Amino acid sequence: MIMAKLKQTTLISFLKNECMVFDRHYEICSFSGDKCKVIEGNCCDYFEHVLLNVPEKSRLPGYDYSKLSAQYAQQTGAKVSSKIKQRRCECGEPLGYRQRYCLKCSMNRKKAANRNRQRKYRFANTST
Ligand SMILES: [Zn+2]
Repeated sequence: MIMAKLKQTTLISFLKNECMVFDRHYEICSFSGDKCKVIEGNCCDYFEHVLLNVPEKSRLPGYDYSKLSAQYAQQTGAKVSSKIKQRRCECGEPLGYRQRYCLKCSMNRKKAANRNRQRKYRFANTST
């Protein structure tokens, strides 16, 4: 008895099997003549528009598209954040992830914001 099963595919095997511009022999993108962007961890417009984000009726049978999309986001998103160059504060200090200002500057800015708030508060009080 043959069991009907969904292909256990990863994003990369899906891409290698189905991407029309992927050159399986040389393992490159025949469109750009370079390495496949998705395999390299970058977004690929072609892959997104022609293979992944297609209406349900033009989806290829046997693939779990929501899983593939999640894998695509992971595959391309993980690299993007590690590729971001070192961001620096306006004073020149290197910044950590999601930091806008270095510790010193953010303290200074908080102090300044507090001063402003107090000034506004005083102003509001004297004007009534
Ligand atoms: Zn700073």
